[in-house]
Amino acid sequence: QRIGWAIVGLGDFAINQILPTIGDTRMCKLTAVVSGNAEKARTIAQAYGVPSRSVYSYDDFDRIRDNPDVQVVYIILPNALHRDWTIRAARAGKHVFCEKPMAVSVDDCKAMIDACRTARRKLMVAYRAQFEPHIMLAKQMIGEGKIGTVRSLAGEHGRMLELDKPRDQWRARQELAGGGSLYDIGIYNLNTARFLAGEEPVEVTATLRNSDDPRVTVETNVDWTMRFASGIRSTFNSSYGYQNNKRLQVMGTEGTIELDPATEYYGNRLLLKKEQAVEQREIRPTNQFAAEMDHFAESILQDRQPKTPGEEGMRDVQIMQAIYQAARTGRPVEIPPRG
Ligand code: NAD
Repeated sequence: QRIGWAIVGLGDFAINQILPTIGDTRMCKLTAVVSGNAEKARTIAQAYGVPSRSVYSYDDFDRIRDNPDVQVVYIILPNALHRDWTIRAARAGKHVFCEKPMAVSVDDCKAMIDACRTARRKLMVAYRAQFEPHIMLAKQMIGEGKIGTVRSLAGEHGRMLELDKPRDQWRARQELAGGGSLYDIGIYNLNTARFLAGEEPVEVTATLRNSDDPRVTVETNVDWTMRFASGIRSTFNSSYGYQNNKRLQVMGTEGTIELDPATEYYGNRLLLKKEQAVEQREIRPTNQFAAEMDHFAESILQDRQPKTPGEEGMRDVQIMQAIYQAARTGRPVEIPPRG
């Protein structure tokens, strides 16, 4: 049994990563596309065998309610649009799979969770890193005590903004992106650190830098620290000012796990470092996009809460807002416990 997916937004990530992956899933199939560009939508629909009656524009999307071939709506639009599209999809009776960051504000996240709850539909945020095999192995190794007691995490995630590309033009604008490098890529280390530590940060400190370029109205660079409930510390950086680097280290009393790169689409690496020895763990690469989509399909079929529901996305937005506040005020900001 395959769950039918509609993709909303046929941009860079949808076209180059998600559409080609759906065929690799065990339990999903593409059954509809939604786009502002009718010609692009038609071409893609034809290429993937989607019937023309299941091609929607942004204006006529709501008639998707009557399409029994669609169970999930996958939102791959600029961040500020996630809220309204999630609500529209839930009101049309569909489950929602939403790209990260979940939304611009905590209030938006709440509205999305409420809309899905009211419609009795499931909501999952696309945290692919929690389905990435090296990160899952790191989690398992930490649980088995391979690096002793975890004391500290560190990492960077950076890339250059390319303002000649449409995908980076909206990322540079606060009104569409909601935040800069932290919202876009810092969120990977934030979410993965919470996943690997298995606990929540209780306090953050931060500094940030903006761009001199008037086309860029979001922050470009963020350095932040987190203190976790048990005393674990982390120090991370996100940046639009240096070329491709996606590293995450977990330091324990008996060794270090280094993921470098940690969050590439393909080709990630895990190193276990103990005293002088460095060992690279070779594992069978599995596709993290297919894994997260199959997980959501399974959650629907078995009526279970997905691993990364709306509450998980909202938590990161809440912490990122605290990071911005810490940077603005120059003081540590406490994170209220999950309620
Ligand atoms: P993109 O610009 O390539 O695609 C966005 C799509 O939204 C385009 O088709 C664009 O036409 C459409 N759109 C609709 N209304 C728009 C508007 N008002 N302004 C601009 N575009 C509009 O961007 P992308 O890189 O594909 O990112 C889309 C989403 O996917 C973002 O939320 C991003 O964070 C997320 N993403 C996730 C990953 C991941 O690894 N999980 C990777 C890349 C992007």
